[in-house]
Amino acid sequence: MPDVPFSVVKRNELVPMCPFCGVQLPEVYMKDKGSGFVEGKNVMYFCPHCSKVLGFGQSRMI
Ligand SMILES: [Zn+2]
Repeated sequence: MPDVPFSVVKRNELVPMCPFCGVQLPEVYMKDKGSGFVEGKNVMYFCPHCSKVLGFGQSRMI
């Protein structure tokens, strides 16, 4: 754990930018891999412009 104080600031007015193609992303696409029915799905987030993967996450669908 780092010693420096850490704070999260909510900035809904800022638009994230794709690190690959540099286009601002008011939305991203997501695609689930269709496995892990019980423990939640693995979800892949990707840029709608260049289709490069931005990250992975877990999406619980109960
Ligand atoms: Zn992109």
